[in-house]
Parts: sequence; structure tokens; C-alpha cells
Amino acid sequence: MPVFYECQRCTACCRWPGQVRVTEVEIRRLAEFLGLDEFTFIQRYCRLAADRRGLVLEEKPDGSCVFLEGRDCRVQPVKPQQCRDFPNWWRFPGFEAQCRARPRPLDAETYLRAVAEATGRSLEEVKQRFSDPARAR
Ligand code: SF4
Ligand code: SF4
Repeated sequence: MPVFYECQRCTACCRWPGQVRVTEVEIRRLAEFLGLDEFTFIQRYCRLAADRRGLVLEEKPDGSCVFLEGRDCRVQPVKPQQCRDFPNWWRFPGFEAQCRARPRPLDAETYLRAVAEATGRSLEEVKQRFSDPARAR
């Protein structure tokens, strides 16, 4: 039975060291959400990715994401896909030790719908990705 991880909004993943990549479309959406033009948004909130292949969100001096405010994401409705995708679309070995998401075994159809809703991806895309039940664990 596939296991869906239900986020508990502990914000640990907004504090880990690492990079949150942002695409051009996401930058446009984030800038609009904050009432900024794209240039100003990039100047204020982005930096070059370590591999120099695009932009990532800036971090605060303590390493947390520039958009983390207390226990809330300031840009929650338009947060980057990378954020929406964790931990059901991507995760790393041993992530459970740091992420409080609650594991919920679900039947296959409910699982696919839950992943689509959590990630904001289409049901078709989720079905394609997890068409092999062995990957949906
Ligand atoms: S954009 Fe929001 S969800 Fe993503 S890391 Fe920053 S605070 Fe967390
Ligand atoms: S995905 Fe995990 S680490 Fe991130 S906020 Fe949700 S429960 Fe916390």
C-alpha cells in the first residue's frame, strides 16, 4: 500500500541548508504576489545557484529561507514547486528523522489524488510518475 506523507507544517524543511530553485514562471508569480516587478524581486530575494544554472531563493543569516516568518511561509499560496514537492515527490534517505510529516498508508487511487493535491501537480502527471506501484512507497 503506498504511503502518503501528510505535512505537519513544522517548517524544518524551510530551515535546512540547501537551495530552493526558482524558475522564470515562479519568479513571475512570486513577484506578482508580493507586488514587485521581477527585477526588484530578483535583486531582493534571489541569488545565483551554486552550479550557476539558475536562481535560488536567498537565505537569512541563520540559513533559513528568506520567506520563512516564524512558523509560516510568507509566500505559501505561490511557493516554489520544489517546496510543494517535498516529501511526496522527492525525498532523501532518512528524511523521516528531520521531517514530521505523518505517514498515511492509502489505497492507490486516494494516494495519487493526495499527492496531486499536495504538490499542485495534475493527476495525470502524478499517475505517470507513480504508475509503477513500487515507486509509490
Ligand atoms: S518558500 Fe516557503 S515553503 Fe519554501 S522554503 Fe521558503 S518558507 Fe519554506
Ligand atoms: S514537509 Fe516535513 S519538514 Fe517540511 S514542513 Fe512539512 S512536516 Fe515539516
